[in-house]
Amino acid sequence: MLPSISAIETFRFRGRDFYVKRDDTIDPLLSGNKYRKLYTFLQTPPQDYSKIYSYGGIQSNAMLSIAVLCHQKGWEFHYTAKTIPSSLKRDITGNLKLAMALGMRLHEVSPADYDEAVALLRAQESEPKRLLVSQGGADPLAKEGVEVLAEEVKAWRREHSDDPLTVVTPSGTGTTAYYLAQALPEYKVVTTPVIGNREYLLTQLARLGTYPENLHLLQSEKKYHFGKPYVEFLKLYQELKQSGLEFDLLYGTKMWLVLLENIESIEGDILYVHSGGIIGNETMLQRYDYKGMS
Ligand SMILES: *Cc1c(COP(=O)(O)O)cnc(C)c1O
Repeated sequence: MLPSISAIETFRFRGRDFYVKRDDTIDPLLSGNKYRKLYTFLQTPPQDYSKIYSYGGIQSNAMLSIAVLCHQKGWEFHYTAKTIPSSLKRDITGNLKLAMALGMRLHEVSPADYDEAVALLRAQESEPKRLLVSQGGADPLAKEGVEVLAEEVKAWRREHSDDPLTVVTPSGTGTTAYYLAQALPEYKVVTTPVIGNREYLLTQLARLGTYPENLHLLQSEKKYHFGKPYVEFLKLYQELKQSGLEFDLLYGTKMWLVLLENIESIEGDILYVHSGGIIGNETMLQRYDYKGMS
């Protein structure tokens, strides 16, 4: 058995002990579940591909992670996104700046042409040495790396306890939560939709296969829009950070909010899988600042 790539630590928050799987420490740029989801490609010999294509949000963590992967492998990376705002174009920041510095080639298309551009990428998918990674790395190939994560969790649990365990992780495309639930049938896996609502997430999950019975979707009492600053997210982010751990402001903070809203209904130990994404906090914190929230 390979050694675990990240530690599991205890984290005391609001008077309760949690375990945290520190996948955020795997790599400063390719952190958390993106490392897990791209695991298969990280093991792939450089000569197997020459060009990688992907598409999606302009500050996405997946985009940056694929840029890191391609930089390491010497693969060209082409990324299709909707036309970026002129303010960002004047002063490129955050994940976009880092990805461009790693050689990512950005292809901007107007919002009206975006779906067609993505369809075109799909049509060319079978060309040799070329690979298309779906938005957010939502790919069946992500299964392998998430299974390695699940094995690490099992090995740790075997050594420590036979008690019930709830594994918690936020969902964008739901790929991580899905494969985690599938690989850990003996535990409960809890997640929450961060991009879109419950129906959106269920549609995403249905694309991966049958619904794992042990996967539980929790929802927040209030409705939140993805990527928007909310004062309660900022406050919780700050409180978590003061307690010793930094989480990302897009996914992690919402997951903690929902987890805390439902904490009474969860029995036994809780293991939070930290999916990284801290690198994106810089641009999010600037947005909070700009809105006068801090
Ligand atoms: C990408 C990302 C997610 C979403 O992962 P999915 O597998 O798409 O559900 C969650 N948390 C963080 C920090 C991420 O960067």
